Amino acid sequence: MHSEFRQDLVTGDWILIAPGRARRPLEFIKKQAVTRQVTPIATCPFEDPEASNQEKAMLRYGTPKKWEVQVLQNKFPAVALSPKDVTSGAHRVFHTLEGVGVHDLVISREHMKNYGDVPLSTLLLVFRALRERYRLIEKSAHAVAYVSMFHNWGPTAGASIYHPHLQMIGLPIIPPDITHSLTGSRTYHEAHDACVHCTIIAQEKKDGRRVIFENRGAIAFAPFTSRVPFELRIFPKQHSSYFESAGEAEIKSVAEVLKATLQMIKKRLHDPDYNFFIHTAPILEKQRYGHYHWHIEVEPKISTPAGFELSTGIEINVIDPDTAAAILLGKKIVEKISDHDA
Ligand SMILES: [Zn+2]
Ligand SMILES: [Zn+2]
Repeated sequence: MHSEFRQDLVTGDWILIAPGRARRPLEFIKKQAVTRQVTPIATCPFEDPEASNQEKAMLRYGTPKKWEVQVLQNKFPAVALSPKDVTSGAHRVFHTLEGVGVHDLVISREHMKNYGDVPLSTLLLVFRALRERYRLIEKSAHAVAYVSMFHNWGPTAGASIYHPHLQMIGLPIIPPDITHSLTGSRTYHEAHDACVHCTIIAQEKKDGRRVIFENRGAIAFAPFTSRVPFELRIFPKQHSSYFESAGEAEIKSVAEVLKATLQMIKKRLHDPDYNFFIHTAPILEKQRYGHYHWHIEVEPKISTPAGFELSTGIEINVIDPDTAAAILLGKKIVEKISDHDA
């Protein structure tokens, strides 16, 4: 396959699929494989958070001694709650806004088991914690416009503590990527009277080649416009805008697909570092975003953005998403060997 520019249907952004730059995808993956340093359990602050001087647990599932999942306030928050309203200001020509918000951690019990390896029941508790905390933030923290929910796994993905945990950062603004995605899906909805994400899901299902896992309620695929190698997206199949008000069956389907997806990444890509995050409609002006479709994005840390990406905003993806899906499914792929390879 030659290189091909592809335009994202939601944001209108362009990406460049250039598989010629990695003629041998399997070699390419192996080269990136990392050996992860495991923090010893003895020095892990999340084994007994209260004793290790963390803030008190805000939500806890299980008993104090035999807890399974907890929500803690981050000891080193990026933003902190203020009793007064958020104030905006100016610094000469620049606009400013107080760094007000919420920064929490959702931690699960088992030091050695990440979300692909824990039992589904634990993953469901993690989702319950996220949703219950989200609704509390929505009710009590009036300055919060959007809650970012994400997981960093491994040092190259930005994780400073080995122990599996998710972060929730409630912000007084709607972040640029979300604005981009909300605006794009609204424009599409106005033009076609349809949800852009439902349209993409239907197309990916019809094509079938990039679907890596699905059950009754959810689906995972390597998007046609994947920005990075092995980017994956997980959607509830029924149109659903708000993560925090999704039904139990819907959450269970998504959790099951997430678990299967993370297992495939670990097994087929030599256990790489990765990030995943939830994109959902914002808290601010809640009724305006029924056109949005919440989902999870998973990005294995296999390539590093370089000058071209930084200077243009166009990502070069050296793995065709069709090939990415085939590799994740354990299918045999034919590797083309270029003249330069000995
Ligand atoms: Zn630990
Ligand atoms: Zn939809």
